Amino acid sequence: MKNAIVTGGSSGIGLAVAERLRSQGYHVGTVDLTADADDPLSRTADVTDRAQVDSAFAAIREALGPITILVNAAGIDGFNKFTDIDFDEWRRVIDVNLNGVFHTIQAALPDMLDAQWGRIVNISSSSAHSGQPYMAHYVSAKSAVNGLTKSLALELGPRGITVNAVPPGFVDTPMLRNAEGRKRLGGTVDDHIQRTPVRRVGRPDDIAAACAFLISEDAGYITGQILGVNGGRNT
Ligand code: NAP
Repeated sequence: MKNAIVTGGSSGIGLAVAERLRSQGYHVGTVDLTADADDPLSRTADVTDRAQVDSAFAAIREALGPITILVNAAGIDGFNKFTDIDFDEWRRVIDVNLNGVFHTIQAALPDMLDAQWGRIVNISSSSAHSGQPYMAHYVSAKSAVNGLTKSLALELGPRGITVNAVPPGFVDTPMLRNAEGRKRLGGTVDDHIQRTPVRRVGRPDDIAAACAFLISEDAGYITGQILGVNGGRNT
């Protein structure tokens, strides 16, 4: 039996990944800013805080046993003219989207190294391929996550651990609808659907399906890949 942790597992894409993995028989713990108080496998932690990450991972490990699957979906967006981004805003967006991934991978790796088997999937963003105005900090962080993914794939491949990234396009989650509501999308979601070759917005389960495949035994020869799930945009 393989045990997984999904960060950002209380909402949107992370929630869909956690539900899909559970439906496939995995044991899944989640880590998020807001946990489900009734679920001992749902833990509260800010991924930028290493002590909180270590403590949440330890609690899930104690309940499930060694963690050999990690999906990093926790994230925040950011939207501001580059000249108006002060260093605190820059640092927070980098901290959550990039440094959070550093902390969680380091927290999970010992179990994977012991098992000589592991799967890491990082949710980056299709904006890392295209660039995105007013999102310089977010795109910088997500681009770095793709780079981290490729480097770790080379480093950890000999130890039986695959590392891949899934950069979503527009996916219908609270983050996207919030950005639409604050007029940060450069149009509505419906406008973006018209510019998307498959003519629909992404569903969280589209991303979950890609993650589930990359985690499966069938994907054991796939590592260091940036698998865009974007309806044909920004490929
Ligand atoms: P979401 O619904 O807002 O889910 C993100 C989750 O991460 C939320 O539960 C959020 O908690 C949590 N989170 C935020 N900061 C955290 C922190 N410091 N520590 C722990 N958890 C934290 O957004 P989503 O759309 O599912 O996004 C999931 C991932 O996909 C993100 O990395 C995002 O950048 C990426 N992505 C999304 C889209 C899209 O169109 N939706 C496109 C490209 C990439 P709170 O709600 O309490 O803040």
